[in-house]
Amino acid sequence: MDEYSPRAPLPGSGADVAVVGGGVVGLGIAWEAARAGRHVVVIDPAPGTGASFAAAGMLAAVSEYHYQEEALLGLMLESATLWPAFAQPLAAEAGYLRTPTLCIAGDGADRQALADLRAVQEAHGLEVTSLTVREARAREPMLSPGIAGAFEIAADHQVDPRRLIAALLARLGSERLVRRRAESLLWDGARVAGVRLDDGSELLAQETIVANGLGARDLAGLPVQLPLRPVYGDILRLRIPQRLRPLVTATVRGLVRGRPVYLVPREDGTVVIGATQREDGSDAVSAGGVYELLRDAQALVPAVAELELYETVARARPGTPDNAPLLGRVSAPEGGDVEGLIVATGFFRHGVLLTPAAARVCREVLEGGNGGAWKPFRPDRFAGLGNGRPISHPLHGRSS
Ligand SMILES: Cc1cc2nc3c(=O)[nH]c(=O)nc-3n(C[C@H](O)[C@H](O)[C@H](O)COP(=O)(O)OP(=O)(O)OC[C@H]3O[C@@H](n4cnc5c(N)ncnc54)[C@H](O)[C@@H]3O)c2cc1C
Repeated sequence: MDEYSPRAPLPGSGADVAVVGGGVVGLGIAWEAARAGRHVVVIDPAPGTGASFAAAGMLAAVSEYHYQEEALLGLMLESATLWPAFAQPLAAEAGYLRTPTLCIAGDGADRQALADLRAVQEAHGLEVTSLTVREARAREPMLSPGIAGAFEIAADHQVDPRRLIAALLARLGSERLVRRRAESLLWDGARVAGVRLDDGSELLAQETIVANGLGARDLAGLPVQLPLRPVYGDILRLRIPQRLRPLVTATVRGLVRGRPVYLVPREDGTVVIGATQREDGSDAVSAGGVYELLRDAQALVPAVAELELYETVARARPGTPDNAPLLGRVSAPEGGDVEGLIVATGFFRHGVLLTPAAARVCREVLEGGNGGAWKPFRPDRFAGLGNGRPISHPLHGRSS
């Protein structure tokens, strides 16, 4: 924790809530707080350019479930149920679609791996429907005749994160956006009173919400060390020629010789193919990653070879030791919680899915709640512990 000194408040420059970070999470939290009647400002020099810029936007509570992540599953399912109401005032602008997800096995071994995952999902009461290969291909005729198995997850939907961010920014309005970098938290005695910006100015706020993804590692003055690490992902965007539309109508998640790949079709005739998962410290797009994604996507949907590849991008997911977010207030050394501070970062692979839940939890905490059922995600839960490595998942573990 950095030293802080009392400072004179700047006249007339205070907000009820200052949100540091204008990715999908920060903007979702800010919008919810604004809708609750609070004077909110979002601080970000380049909103929407972090992990949220890359994200496929799968709202995949069921297909992303990992067998040792029951608490996280609860948060993911809660957020999935919040999505329709969250998206409704944004209308079609956010690109929220309730299309299902098909899980496809490339070969017999992949079929077994997906069957094992499915058994765990069903043991938790999650709804998964078996399809024969013939049924899957009747729904999605572009699927390869060579696929070995399929099941449907009706509850896993999608949103277009870039459209979502544009819609949230438009709803919030430019007057609520401060295009500056936050350098440090400002303290007033034992409470957080706002942030110092990179031009040296101070922005005062009753509550400061640290929601700047991986950038939270560099924010000075935090009273807790946040165990964040970058988990890079390469992801592709392709345009589908008219003659091949629709390429697929559902989100297709596959395992191809043990390697996960997904295709997320968009309404505008494009498809997102993702994603690698690597911890090599490089934010450059990996040629090997692009090659493997195209190869494996093509194994599931051969017509991928005929699409126009128009964008390759790499971004870092804000990973945590247990794959779950760092969300809520932070304990004060003298007991109770640090006043004026909420943390909302570490959303790793699920930040888009978890945005409505993060917004809801922050709203409840702003209203005096203690995070209720979501206390297990408090940002100080790792204080004094070593940073364990997360465990892999059949649909996650692609590395290149
Ligand atoms: C390839 C890939 C695919 C993904 N697919 C999915 C998916 O299908 N579904 C899903 O739910 N999730 C997905 N994710 C994960 C998701 O993208 C992240 O969990 C989510 O974007 C995190 O959002 P965020 O707002 O916390 O962080 P970010 O989007 O990284 O935003 C952080 C913001 O903070 C700003 N910032 C940083 N430091 C400062 C500072 N000091 N002051 C002010 N502003 C600052 C940055 O400019 C940035 O705009 C994917 C991620 C990747 C990389």
